[in-house]
Amino acid sequence: MQRQVSCECGYHAREDDEETLVRTVQRHVTDTHPELADQVTPDVIRGWIELVP
Ligand SMILES: [Zn+2]
Repeated sequence: MQRQVSCECGYHAREDDEETLVRTVQRHVTDTHPELADQVTPDVIRGWIELVP
């Protein structure tokens, strides 16, 4: 099972492990949605994770 996060802008990130995915999504938020970067903590990102086969 992989882990996926779908951003509201249409961006998808998919990784095998949760910590890598959290870092990837944090980088996306910082680059693309800097106004959200303060609110989007690792715990928030973990709440967005879906498991995909
Ligand atoms: Zn986005």
